[in-house]
Amino acid sequence: MTTVFSKIIRRELPAEILFENDHLIAFKDINPVAPVHLLLVPKKEIRDLQSLAPEDLYLVGELIAAAQQLAEQLGISNGYRLLTNNGAAAGQAVFHLHFHLIGGAPLAPIG
Ligand code: AMP
Repeated sequence: MTTVFSKIIRRELPAEILFENDHLIAFKDINPVAPVHLLLVPKKEIRDLQSLAPEDLYLVGELIAAAQQLAEQLGISNGYRLLTNNGAAAGQAVFHLHFHLIGGAPLAPIG
């Protein structure tokens, strides 16, 4: 279940890393859909949101706090999207839990 994201965490693949602590890493998406497009990734190998165990729920709270901080730093705190694709049917391509932080331009409404 090791993915490219674990390789980035272990520095086996390059990435533009903007934030890191013991539990999380955040780096630029290689194929951005907006001027700001980061991926926020728990370092623990968790397949997807649906697989997140109760004892790991704190990681999502920490991840949201990191997203708030990055949004402030990057000047997008007035408008951004923080989302995860759960499962192939939702478009998940990398099966290591991650949230997209997207902003910096008007975003098309979803739903
Ligand atoms: P998802 O479809 O939600 O699984 O999103 C996976 C995201 O990972 C996509 O937006 C890709 O552009 C991005 N991605 C894949 N490989 C890399 C990489 N080596 N460095 C940065 N982003 C990547």
